[in-house]
Amino acid sequence: MEKTAINIIGNKQCTGCFGCYNVCPVNAIEMKYDEEGFYKPNILENCIECGKCEKVCPVIKNENSNKYIKAYGAWSNDEEILLNSSSGGIFSELALEILNEDGIVYGVSWEKGNVKHKRIEKKEDLKDLRGSKYLPSFVGNSYKEVVEDLKNNKKVLFSGTPCQIAALNKIIKSDNLITVDLICHGMPSYKSYKKYCDEEFKTPVTKVDFRNKGMGWINFSLIYYTNILKNNLHYVDKFFFGFLKDIYLNEPCYACKFKGTKNGEKREADITLADFWGVPKELFNKNGVSLVITNNEKGEEIFSKIKNKVFFKEISLETGIKGNPSFYKSCTRPKERDMFYKDFDKLSFNELSDKYFRVPSLMERKIKRILNFPIRVLRFLKRRFVKEV
Ligand SMILES: Cc1cc2nc3c(=O)[nH]c(=O)nc-3n(C[C@H](O)[C@H](O)[C@H](O)COP(=O)(O)OP(=O)(O)OC[C@H]3O[C@@H](n4cnc5c(N)ncnc54)[C@H](O)[C@@H]3O)c2cc1C
Ligand code: SF4
Ligand code: SF4
Ligand code: SF4
Repeated sequence: MEKTAINIIGNKQCTGCFGCYNVCPVNAIEMKYDEEGFYKPNILENCIECGKCEKVCPVIKNENSNKYIKAYGAWSNDEEILLNSSSGGIFSELALEILNEDGIVYGVSWEKGNVKHKRIEKKEDLKDLRGSKYLPSFVGNSYKEVVEDLKNNKKVLFSGTPCQIAALNKIIKSDNLITVDLICHGMPSYKSYKKYCDEEFKTPVTKVDFRNKGMGWINFSLIYYTNILKNNLHYVDKFFFGFLKDIYLNEPCYACKFKGTKNGEKREADITLADFWGVPKELFNKNGVSLVITNNEKGEEIFSKIKNKVFFKEISLETGIKGNPSFYKSCTRPKERDMFYKDFDKLSFNELSDKYFRVPSLMERKIKRILNFPIRVLRFLKRRFVKEV
């Protein structure tokens, strides 16, 4: 089985994109969580060593000619969409455009406590795809289904992480396929999420609203759907804190090959969406602002089609990505990551958190803010002074 993609790259470089799974002619690949909690291919005995998975694996070879066109700060004018989306709801507006053209949309949804890619044809189903799910998605046969939809002359919009879009692009290219990716911080481990939920809630979690805007876009909280709803502000939620501290990201995310360049070239999808972190004051909306980057003419064309349904303002790429280094830079692999996984089965999630990513209490946060107050005042004065000069 030397010719299989996973044997060539090894588990540590595999992103779990499901590219190989979708092209295997004899169904000799099953995708299973590995010991760290990420989907990886497992090759079965009926493999005929055809080499198709090697050809499609974007980690082995990946090229694209995308070149940055424009960047925008934007949000949907539809309040329901805006409040229920992670940033400015631009994904939903793009999806509605395709559905209005009798097309098909693929995005990520919850299904029985798991996160999966889902194909939708009806506007009523779009709510399932809304919102970031910070867990690895089971892509299943979605890329194969995209190929079928395109054969049937359907327009298709596919949304996923840059590594998933890279895999899809290697499987099929078509004028009727529009791809949307994200600025991707990295993918957190399902196993860590499950351990946290099992110990914290003791009853199954059916879904999580990772970006609830009840207290605003910036001050978002996570809502866990268990027997009772559990609402955690994101900076006190232990699972989310560990994610942001980069302790349990998928190994290839620390050296991601799918970010393109700092000047916006070679991004994987036609359009990149993100939170517009660090948005200038004049573009701020307390309910969320998307950063939209068009990576080729197709991306620019589809964004132009929704301009009458959204607020938007063109900005420079530099302004757009200033507060979002994940656009061009991978997270640093914490040196404690290996020890974290060694301790994983020996310690409870709370013990792991105390040892590797201690979450400051609300009181500690308050004290830190008070101590930082003079620094903030100095920064404010410096900004004013520099402007006036
Ligand atoms: C793992 C992950 C890391 C991210 N990192 C950053 C970051 O560092 N900086 C930043 O600005 N933004 C990041 N985002 C993107 C951001 O959270 C928003 O998704 C984005 O701004 C689009 O928002 P929206 O309001 O337009 O649409 P939304 O309705 O919020 O977007 C929904 C769509 O996002 C895609 N999506 C959701 N979950 C997943 C998943 N698990 N796997 C693949 N695709 C998914 C789906 O296709 C889904 O249909 C990340 C998202 C994910 C899932
Ligand atoms: S049969 Fe071909 S595509 Fe399937 S696992 Fe084997 S080499 Fe890869
Ligand atoms: S195609 Fe994707 S899932 Fe398969 S080996 Fe390559 S990176 Fe891993
Ligand atoms: S950081 Fe890169 S490798 Fe990791 S999930 Fe995102 S796109 Fe894929």
